[in-house]
Amino acid sequence: MTQLPDDELLAFDREHLWHPYTSMKAPLPVYPVRSAQGVRITLNDGRELIDGMASWWSVIHGYNHPALNAAAHAQIDRMAHVMFGGLTHEPAVVLGKLLVDLTPAPLTRVFFSDSGSVAVEVAIKLAIQYWQALGVPQKHRLLTVRGGYHGDTLGAMSVCDPVTGMHGLFAGVLAKQVFAARPSPDFAASWDDRHSSELAQLLADHSHELAAVILEPIVQGAGGMRFYHPQYLRRVRELCDAHGVLLICDEIATGFGRSGKLFACEHAGIAPDILCLGKALTGGYMSLAATLATSKVADTISDGAADGAFMHGPTFMANPLACAIAAASIRTLLDSPWQARIAQLEAALRTQLDPCRDAPSVADVRVLGAIGVVEMNDPIDVAAVQRRFVERGVWIRPFGRLLYVMPPYVISDDELSQLTAAMVELTGA
Ligand SMILES: *Cc1c(COP(=O)(O)O)cnc(C)c1O
Repeated sequence: MTQLPDDELLAFDREHLWHPYTSMKAPLPVYPVRSAQGVRITLNDGRELIDGMASWWSVIHGYNHPALNAAAHAQIDRMAHVMFGGLTHEPAVVLGKLLVDLTPAPLTRVFFSDSGSVAVEVAIKLAIQYWQALGVPQKHRLLTVRGGYHGDTLGAMSVCDPVTGMHGLFAGVLAKQVFAARPSPDFAASWDDRHSSELAQLLADHSHELAAVILEPIVQGAGGMRFYHPQYLRRVRELCDAHGVLLICDEIATGFGRSGKLFACEHAGIAPDILCLGKALTGGYMSLAATLATSKVADTISDGAADGAFMHGPTFMANPLACAIAAASIRTLLDSPWQARIAQLEAALRTQLDPCRDAPSVADVRVLGAIGVVEMNDPIDVAAVQRRFVERGVWIRPFGRLLYVMPPYVISDDELSQLTAAMVELTGA
């Protein structure tokens, strides 16, 4: 299949291609991939790796899935793409209907875009245009919590954790938002109203200038892999209502079952005014994202200035190929016993990662749904650890002090134990 010798491929890659968050001068090593099937990634040299990352939350059904491949082939033979300005198509309508049906009831209006970060930009712009349409343009700031991650574009960065989101580098450029402490307590800890008192105060102090609160429901992903208490999210909803502030939930990482519920808001039984989806939306096949809003948000904007237009419109909006695959991915999920499977994965991750607690190198072990996290005391040497994992036949990519897995839901029990055994071994437990 590939004709390029590995040394040439790697030399060009090293010289010319940026990888995520890396230097062009001293890049971390990369491993060339030939193909991927199910839960296995095959390297060019023939080695097979069990995938613990689902390619960053997205590949929930495994790679090269027959139903998703079939949807892609069927759609590409009809049309890969057509502009969404002035035209529409069945894949967008079918996917839109699935999303409206599956997400919390008040969310009925859908804006398709091409990546999670853009879905967050769209959410922020919806919130700002909402208050402009109501004649309160001074409500344009956002309140968020520390430890969050919402993407890499400038608007999204402004609501990422100020430290890990490297606000210092972009200080003059980023909008200044309002930050509350990291949500607490932990998912299964006992609740006390003191946990929301700072948030209540911040909303009281700033509601006159706040368009929305934005946060990741229950699971804080790339900002620290932490799971917080559902009552905190219920309090956020109550406080937003009490102070006239919209609520944006970013479910780009948690959407489509990862936390044990189809959407993580369901742990708290709340619905946001605006919801962001991405990552697993297409089962990891293509970049596609969606921002959903209530009819109240959409209608208010539509009654506002600029002829009621919402001012956003990406070139590849509602790409038919991506929409067709997304619809197939969602049907594949719904046709599977996903809830029971995630519960099994959660139980297995808990049991199998528990021994890590005994290692002196380990600060914390936490599991929710199909997410298993081992937090170390010290930063992990990513290149060295990754090499060890590759030699052991597993694909796990740590960051910071975090060693974590969020495998495809279709991983077998045996494959999962190989992932967790590699993690346990690394901690020295
Ligand atoms: C990954 C992620 C994003 C950004 O999505 P991209 O597709 O990488 O732009 C935003 N929010 C959350 C919660 C994410 O996990």
